[in-house]
Amino acid sequence: MGAVRTISRPGARGQRSRPLRVAFEHLAAGYPVTIDRYCSDTRDDRQSIMLLSCAAWAAQRGAEVEVIWEPESRRRGAAADVVFIVLFSVAAYALKNAIEAYRAQTDGCIVVCGPHAVSFPEHCYRAGADAIVKKCDQALFLQILDDVGQGRLQRSYATTRSIDRLPHYSEFQARGFVPAQGFRNALASTGCPYTCSFCTDAETNFSTIDAADVVADIASCDEKLIVFNDPLFGLGEHGKAIMHGLSGLGDRYAMGFTTSSALRQPEMRRLFTDAGFVLLEVGLENIHADYAKNRRSDLIDICAQCPFFIIVNYIYGLSARDFEQETTSYLVELTEKCPNVLPMVFVPFSLPETGLHQDHLAQGRIFDPSYLCIGNEILSMRLPLQMTPADYYHRLDALNERLYIDHNARMREWVLTHPGITPDRRRVMLDIVRRQGHEEDAASAWSAAISRAAPDDFRPFAQDVLGAAVPDFAGYDLAWKPAGDKT
Ligand code: SF4
Repeated sequence: MGAVRTISRPGARGQRSRPLRVAFEHLAAGYPVTIDRYCSDTRDDRQSIMLLSCAAWAAQRGAEVEVIWEPESRRRGAAADVVFIVLFSVAAYALKNAIEAYRAQTDGCIVVCGPHAVSFPEHCYRAGADAIVKKCDQALFLQILDDVGQGRLQRSYATTRSIDRLPHYSEFQARGFVPAQGFRNALASTGCPYTCSFCTDAETNFSTIDAADVVADIASCDEKLIVFNDPLFGLGEHGKAIMHGLSGLGDRYAMGFTTSSALRQPEMRRLFTDAGFVLLEVGLENIHADYAKNRRSDLIDICAQCPFFIIVNYIYGLSARDFEQETTSYLVELTEKCPNVLPMVFVPFSLPETGLHQDHLAQGRIFDPSYLCIGNEILSMRLPLQMTPADYYHRLDALNERLYIDHNARMREWVLTHPGITPDRRRVMLDIVRRQGHEEDAASAWSAAISRAAPDDFRPFAQDVLGAAVPDFAGYDLAWKPAGDKT
């Protein structure tokens, strides 16, 4: 780490006679990995506000900037002095091929950023990255551009500074960085004040972006549907100030992650409603684990009172008691009493950079430490009972089938008849119901591919799943670690 790679290119080392050429791409996976697809008929939620902000900062610095949205347009990054590739690990199988496609077009630097660079830096290097970036801010990003310009790119960059201001979305639009797509992403805070041992955001201090500026940014943008990418939205006075500001705008609709504790507060439920929230995502965590905050809780009554959709995430199989009838009954009751709840049942997973992961490793619970299964859906941990992966998915599929039977129709009926949903909100929410119906087909095909590949013993099977789900998967170079490599 920290080694200097000298790049010899015309114009390097301060003798540049033309602007720096900078390209950005958010690398996406070719299979359904997210339920955040309720905002657009044509696009997945692939806007990284940090990527767009860096693009704006580069342009403000005088660079020629290109934001690349489609893989087939990657050749447009030709002659870039530096390409920034942002990705979650679910798209990591495509990283080496993407880097090689750029290498064929440019002799510039290739820098990998985003969650995958944080979790699997060694894979990024093996895939051909010149450098990786972990947490970033404007000052660090501009330093990277300077290092590129001077041929002094380092292997790894990170900062602990927090971000308190970002460029406005209207600037991204004006510079042609984002296509019109019927929604926009936003960021009102970074990090988290809580310290859940399984979560990477627990390591990042909670810091807020100026509330008045967040509202001004949203007010100045013509996209009406706002997707907040904050790890948790609405905490404390900062969240309330933003929601008051959004209420004043009157014609915005929003989605975001929050906590079940926030939903427990009548004031917060009212604020979310008045601010135009149509969907919130919360973690039910695990109703049996030591750290659970929601065991046999009042959450069902609370969700039933909310005039918006709630995605409830639940990790199934961390506790042996998850496989008892009590758990199924609880989730069924939640879904039946709350047609506005979408249960998302995930497999036990473990992110490599958490302390919990080290504990799991020490206990021999991780049977697939590869990046291929970092998607909350492909099992990588042993289960607390004598149960094979094949048995596990048999139970998981049965649970999901039970939870989702007729659910889309009940959601639709709930939206149409709920007295607290205004006609404008109803229109936006019916669109969500329609997209959820479409997504069910894709999600079912993906689940079937996982279940078919799940073996009767604990051996890695993510590669088999992707082989069935990703077109031309055999053509991807996984940059897999050689046998015996412990990185
Ligand atoms: S799981 Fe949620 S509450 Fe816990 S540290 Fe992560 S973002 Fe914060």
